[in-house]
Amino acid sequence: MNASGLSPEQVKLQARARELAAGPVAKRAAEVDRAEQYPWDNVELLKDARLIGMTIPQQYGGQGKGWLDAVLAIEALSSACAVTGRIAVETNMGAISAVMAYGSEEQKKLAADMVLSGDKPAICITEPEAGSDAGGMTTRADKKGNRYVINGRKHWITGGGVSRLHLIFAKVFDEQGNEEGIGGFLAIRDETKGLKITKREPTMGLRGIPEAVIDFEDMDVPPSSLVIPPRGLKKGFADLMNAYNSQRVGAATVALGIAEGAYQLALDWSEKRQQFGRPINEFQGLQWKLADMSIKLVAAQALVYNAARSGEGGFPDMLLAAQAKVFTSESAIQVVNEALQFFGARGYSRELPLERMARDVRMFTIGGGTAEVLRNVVAGALLKKKLPQTRDGWSKADGG
Ligand SMILES: Cc1cc2nc3c(=O)[nH]c(=O)nc-3n(C[C@H](O)[C@H](O)[C@H](O)COP(=O)(O)OP(=O)(O)OC[C@H]3O[C@@H](n4cnc5c(N)ncnc54)[C@H](O)[C@@H]3O)c2cc1C
Repeated sequence: MNASGLSPEQVKLQARARELAAGPVAKRAAEVDRAEQYPWDNVELLKDARLIGMTIPQQYGGQGKGWLDAVLAIEALSSACAVTGRIAVETNMGAISAVMAYGSEEQKKLAADMVLSGDKPAICITEPEAGSDAGGMTTRADKKGNRYVINGRKHWITGGGVSRLHLIFAKVFDEQGNEEGIGGFLAIRDETKGLKITKREPTMGLRGIPEAVIDFEDMDVPPSSLVIPPRGLKKGFADLMNAYNSQRVGAATVALGIAEGAYQLALDWSEKRQQFGRPINEFQGLQWKLADMSIKLVAAQALVYNAARSGEGGFPDMLLAAQAKVFTSESAIQVVNEALQFFGARGYSRELPLERMARDVRMFTIGGGTAEVLRNVVAGALLKKKLPQTRDGWSKADGG
């Protein structure tokens, strides 16, 4: 897809990411999926191409790029390998952007250095009993003298077992046991006693990145590990989740990229494949499918770019990010499914990437806020009133 309104630098960045995607990233995508191995070699490629940590401000070693710049790279990479696209999301958005916005100097330096050297931070919000209702989490951080002691269980944590830096959301209690709000604690795996990767989830798709259960057992951290947004702990969760709007745009972008990749394969195949003595794209039934697929992709891309642009100088707008994620994730599933159909039996074979794309794209109406919960976010923002199906009514904190 081609979008207008890009600067010459953005066009160059996009070309760089597309070249990488079409070359080494595409070549390894099937193997990354089959072996279920985190693609460390692709991390090196992204580092060399300066596509990792590019939203980190220059004073911390990044390039100070905007969300749309990151989106252009993620879109291109995801068309070839969704796992690599997700690595670009999580090294430019989400946990890293929350720390860069709200962290202390020490926290910003630590997070920037780790990401720029290739670490994909893990963001730990979801719990077995608190998914969409993330505010119902039970992981707790108790102040004990000059330490916090954290106990609880998180699951479906992307990168669990490969990520070193973790941003862990927990309810914070003072020494008297009074709840102060939800905060985010930074901890480094293997350097923090009590942070245990307990299980890897056997996932349907996106198999090159582990999804893990993480247990915190009397995990002891200093108060300096707590990321406190300027409005304090009481509003801390809403502010940290505001940063998460960047990751929602990133997740929508991965879905968009996968669907664009699948659409391109279907378009090319429709010219090559002949039945009834002519290319299959001469059948009107398939022409209309191609038309519908392209309309969905152009609309999704416009929503994603618009949401990304809304965040320049801050974070993407909650409403625009939710609208973009709902539409893009649902459209992308439909487009990939149709693209697979173009290949007939071949589409169902593991020798082609369509079945992998169909498994990978299915995630995006679930992770990062389900399509249902994000519709609540959209409705809440439009109606500006407390919705009975949300914990805090119209809240930035819904749908971890
Ligand atoms: C691949 C993958 C990666 C992930 N990575 C991370 C990560 O890195 N960090 C992290 O913290 N979490 C992560 N998650 C977890 C993800 O954010 C949650 O799965 C998601 O928020 C939904 O929670 P749940 O799975 O508990 O579903 P539930 O909340 O149990 O929802 C079940 C169903 O009920 C619906 N539902 C729930 N509440 C409402 C409501 N009020 N109105 C209407 N419908 C509702 C949901 O939409 C869904 O269809 C990941 C998930 C996946 C699949």
